Amino acid sequence: MTRPLMRRNVGSESVSFVARGPQSTHPAPRRCPMIGWMKPEEARARCWAAVDARWEDELEFLCQLVRRPSLRGQTNLVQRHIAERLRAHGLEVHEVGIDAGRLHRLRGFSPVDWSYAGLLEVVGVRRGRGCGRSLVLNGHVDVVSPEPVGHWSHDPWGAEICEGRMYGRGAGDMKAGIAAMVAALEAVEASGLELAGDVVLQTVIDEECSGNGTLALLAEGWRGDAAVVPEPMGLTLVSAHPGVLWCRIEVSGRGAHAQSASTAVNPIDKAYLLVGALRQLEAEWNRPDRLHPALASLEHPINFNLGTIHCGDWPSTSPELCVAEMRLAFQPGEEVGWVQQTVRERVAAAADADAWLRQHPPRVSFVGFHAEGCAYDLDTEIAGVVRSNHQALVGRPPDVRPIAATVDNRLFELTFGIPNICYGPVAGQLHAPDEWVDLESLRTTTKVLAGTLVEWCGLA
Ligand SMILES: [Zn+2]
Repeated sequence: MTRPLMRRNVGSESVSFVARGPQSTHPAPRRCPMIGWMKPEEARARCWAAVDARWEDELEFLCQLVRRPSLRGQTNLVQRHIAERLRAHGLEVHEVGIDAGRLHRLRGFSPVDWSYAGLLEVVGVRRGRGCGRSLVLNGHVDVVSPEPVGHWSHDPWGAEICEGRMYGRGAGDMKAGIAAMVAALEAVEASGLELAGDVVLQTVIDEECSGNGTLALLAEGWRGDAAVVPEPMGLTLVSAHPGVLWCRIEVSGRGAHAQSASTAVNPIDKAYLLVGALRQLEAEWNRPDRLHPALASLEHPINFNLGTIHCGDWPSTSPELCVAEMRLAFQPGEEVGWVQQTVRERVAAAADADAWLRQHPPRVSFVGFHAEGCAYDLDTEIAGVVRSNHQALVGRPPDVRPIAATVDNRLFELTFGIPNICYGPVAGQLHAPDEWVDLESLRTTTKVLAGTLVEWCGLA
């Protein structure tokens, strides 16, 4: 089926994408109650029993994901493994590329200077009977570097299990969530239940640096009536997060032999001067009167992180060039263009106050994350379904909280207007040595997703 995409919120200019993925067979989402022969609680209980019965298999699948390193540009191995698993389970599987040229006008696109050539995204589709609502389950396979691996006490690619936790880069962020997505659907079907609505499993790349992977799949029409992203949120519902912008500052110095370093201009020193100016901006943006109300409960939601600094190649040479890269954060509702302008002005003002930098202005560019902040509507039906499943399992409703990092939910929310929720397991040491995920919380996540599939999509 192809029909034009909903244009609402999709960038400033019209685009010619058509929907390819399962769309709701109804013009607007409608409640598709579980019908006929089984009570909702009974369906849920059967799915949960199936999650328990298949638990060892789910753990093994997670091990297989963690043991396939998937840094940016090296994601195909794990993607092919997932595609194979979905195919073996009888899903319709599509391996899709990212065409940045087709995305660049869309709201939420992040310009990048790395290539997507040959890199796969995976969509697994289970067509329902057609009378229910469709649900997207979305997870990212890309992980950040584990270096320095000498700081780990576990093998970052070993998927070691120790006292209820699995350790490994990506174990929490977010291969556990992906295992939960796949295992939840398999458990529903192993229970002998047939879903009324379509299920779209998306495993995407480039979440850790742009969000273009999710943007590409949604733009190509792989959508649904709602979405759940099982990032490792500690079994809480995400209410809001700041925007994220990557910034690169290049500073020229005057190189020299170290014997005349006193007359050289060291660009590392000059770069720190500029970073200091941005630190002031960071402090201003964290002032309580400046914070977006949705982030106000966080102690320090707006974080500017100096992530890389590349400079010099020899101890006895005063370097010529320093390139510093920062991850900046900003409030929901602020435009990326305005943030860029503000950053440029602060850097320019700091440069103007320095005799060398006034003559040799630093270059500021923005490559990677151009991610808007977002405050989510948690009164949606999909949030209610996740909430009620969590409550039925855990005995109380999930906490609701903002986070200080970004998630791909923003693209569902801001670009495509698809109701969505971010909810997933308990994990720690994300982007740090000895990353782990708590396995019982993974089991809970899997059951909540299984219950959500049944309740949202309905039974045929
Ligand atoms: Zn993540």
